[in-house]
Amino acid sequence: MSRKTIIIVILLAILSLGLIVAGQVFWVRKAYDLQEDQFNKRVFVAISEVVQRIRIMNNDSAATEPVQQVASNSFIANINDTPHPFLLEDLLKDEFERSNLKEDFEYGIYDCFTDSIVYGSRISFKDLNVREQADQIHGLKEFQPDGHYFGVVFPNKSAFILKQLDFWMYSSFVILLIVIFFSYTISAMLKQKRLAEIKTDFVNNMTHELKTPISTIGLSADAIANPSIISNPERLAQYVAIIRNENSRLKSQVERVLQIAALTPNKVNLKDELLDIHLIINNALATFRMQVSELEGSIDVNLRAGNPFMKGDLVHITNVIYNLLDNAIKYTQATPHIEISTHNQGDDLIISVKDNGIGISKANQKMIFEKFYRVPTGNLHSVRGFGLGLYYVKTIVKAHHGKIEVESILGKGSTFTLKYKTAQ
Ligand code: ADP
Repeated sequence: MSRKTIIIVILLAILSLGLIVAGQVFWVRKAYDLQEDQFNKRVFVAISEVVQRIRIMNNDSAATEPVQQVASNSFIANINDTPHPFLLEDLLKDEFERSNLKEDFEYGIYDCFTDSIVYGSRISFKDLNVREQADQIHGLKEFQPDGHYFGVVFPNKSAFILKQLDFWMYSSFVILLIVIFFSYTISAMLKQKRLAEIKTDFVNNMTHELKTPISTIGLSADAIANPSIISNPERLAQYVAIIRNENSRLKSQVERVLQIAALTPNKVNLKDELLDIHLIINNALATFRMQVSELEGSIDVNLRAGNPFMKGDLVHITNVIYNLLDNAIKYTQATPHIEISTHNQGDDLIISVKDNGIGISKANQKMIFEKFYRVPTGNLHSVRGFGLGLYYVKTIVKAHHGKIEVESILGKGSTFTLKYKTAQ
């Protein structure tokens, strides 16, 4: 599948899933509103019935609009006299039960003269023997100082309504599972695609790196087969030397790749030697100075660490410095100006390698330490590699309990910073 097709497929799939989720949210809301409406209506009817029964008992004439909803879960009802709490409670329980509203509620009887609650209680349908007296009804203020009234609050109204929406809850759960499954599939698909790209890249690089020595060996072997060369021992020796050199180059290259590819972070065999990082850097610089001066560049060296000693493996730590300096030159298109510096920070030894190269984008900064990863734009024609250098660096730094960080601005340059514990 081409990159464009994959992007289109993913976008379409996200769009359709988004529509399904939005539709589900819409219908769940609608179903909730409907259930809430029904709940309110049933409460209205039940409380109106209670008021009616009290009035009949008291021989009162009916007032207009006896029941009002004062908050989403609170209702009040006007009455002409303060009813006996137990009577009111029994009537409420009876009417709620009849309306199939077996939901815990709180009620309060209010006095218009003192403007406060006369009696309040919390009722649970689960245990009808529990009557918990309350001198304040949660969420119900005194609303009507001009008359007697009682208020009813359903503290768990939302949970009660949600319980009625079990089909919607179930279907939402199924949709959530689909979304999780879909996201997982997409991420696995992208990962697979990236691995396939990395593999192709690696095979291309490997082929390129191996083709030159193989063809040189082939040409030299052809030359040796030529009778005029066989009879010329000097030329023969030259061709044999070429074959030998190219063969050993090939061998070391293949070995290096295999060794690094097989490197696992927790299984690096390290020597524990006392190392002077300044000495290691100076030795490495001897190699790189020539390379940089050929490109008319410069290397600034600021070795300021008062304590440049650390414990570690000389060969591996040297390779780390080599790899960073090598990359600093490799990934600089302009004249290379490299700075290598050290300093101490508490017990730490900080080493940084700064270049004025092509830089690395934020997204790629997270990936460059992965095995075989190469920044696609970093794949300049002249810059060959296997994407193993920084993986090796990170593995070795980690094995030494150190840290590596990169700061970089695309087009400006990069700074790789290493942090090791100093040897006291
Ligand atoms: P290789 O150099 O063999 O490709 P590395 O693991 O050393 O492998 O580096 C991985 C990638 O990180 C490189 O392909 C390159 O794109 C990027 N990179 C590494 N060092 C630098 C640097 N100093 N400046 C810019 N890009 C860099």
